[in-house]
This record gives sequence, C-alpha cells and structure tokens, in this order.
Amino acid sequence: MIRYPYVLLDADNTLFDFDTGNRNAFRAVCETQDIPDTDENFALYETCNNAMWAAFDRGECTKDFIVIERFRIFLNKLGLRRDPAVCNQVHLTTLGKSKLLLPHAEEVCRTLSRQCKLYIVTNAVAAVQKSRLAGSGVAPYIEEAFISEDAGASKPSKAYFNYVFGKVPALTTQNCLLVGDSLSSDIQGANNAGLPCCWFNRKGYAHPEGLRIDYEIADLRQLYNIIGVV
Ligand SMILES: [Mg+2]
Repeated sequence: MIRYPYVLLDADNTLFDFDTGNRNAFRAVCETQDIPDTDENFALYETCNNAMWAAFDRGECTKDFIVIERFRIFLNKLGLRRDPAVCNQVHLTTLGKSKLLLPHAEEVCRTLSRQCKLYIVTNAVAAVQKSRLAGSGVAPYIEEAFISEDAGASKPSKAYFNYVFGKVPALTTQNCLLVGDSLSSDIQGANNAGLPCCWFNRKGYAHPEGLRIDYEIADLRQLYNIIGVV
C-alpha cells in the first residue's frame, strides 16, 4: 500500500551533492580570476553567499541581484578588483555542469518511480538547475522539475506550492510527501502549505523548535518504508 503516491523532492543536498559542486565551482572562479583558492577564502565566500540567499528567502532582493552581489561583497572584503558578474558567470556555468549525486539518490529515485510519481521542487537559478537535471542519473525518474524562478515564487512560500499544485492537479495535501534537507525552505514550506514532510537530516543536526517534522531520515533508502514501496 503506497502511503504517498506523489513525492516532491528537493534537489540540492537532497539528491545532488551540492556542497561538492559548490566547492568545485568556487575553485573554477579562483583559477580563472586569479584569486587564491584557500579554505579561508571559500569560507568567506560562503558567508557572503549565505547572507545573500537569506535575504532572497526573506523576499528582500531578486536572484539576479544576489548572485552578483555575493561576489561583489566577497571581492570587496578581499580588496580585489575583479568583475563580480564574470565571477558569477564562471561559478554558475561550473555548477551547471556538476551532476554529482548523493549516495543512493539514483537507486532511490529509480525504485520509487516504479510506484510513485516524482517531482523536483527547488529554489535555484533555473538555467543551472535545468542543465544539471537534464544530464543527471535521476533525470529518467523525474516527471517534472518545478523551479522557483519559473514559478515566480520560492520555497517556503505558500505561493510556490500553489504553483506546483496548479501544475499537478492530482496532488492533494494528503497524497504527497515533501522530502528535503532544508528546515528554512523545505520543512517550513511544507508547514506553510500543510503538506506531509520528511526532513533529510544527513548530518545529524539538532531538532528545531516550532516546526512540524512528520518524518526524519539520515539515508534516502529510509523513504521506502515511509512511502510504503516494496
Ligand atoms: Mg536542499
């Protein structure tokens, strides 16, 4: 008996090894722009990057703005004169080619897709995400990918999930399970939209206060039991 015939999967750090792809993209920026590729510089870039995505999640600025602004702030802090738009272009192009999957992602998508319909729900730069999905090992098992940039809204907003529901009329708030690693976008989004959710807590983070988490997994294969596939 399939408990959730529709599965909404986050992409980055749920199916894709975003962390490795992101580190490789930073290295490519350093190599092409003559910036020292050190762990300290990467940590500094991550601080700038995370601050900008947080501002985006709060609805304070556009994606086109933040992707360049993160490099502008990073370069300013280092006192380097480089073109932040060029840095961003190298970064996004490299990231778009990164198709590294997390352990068991391909096997789990293949197995689930025999009895469920799988969709991707992701906040990201549409061009990057489409390029990565298209050539990835999970592509054959995914019905459709819903990218925030196309939706005109992003997780965790209810408007984003309304867009997804508009695209898949068979979806209800009972027959789908949202699976994601992010508390602030995935789990908060499922809470906002009233959807069952599963937190992919790969790194064993502490439980947050005030969020409904229906299931928690540390390995994607645990979805078999939760969803009820055999
Ligand atoms: Mg994620």
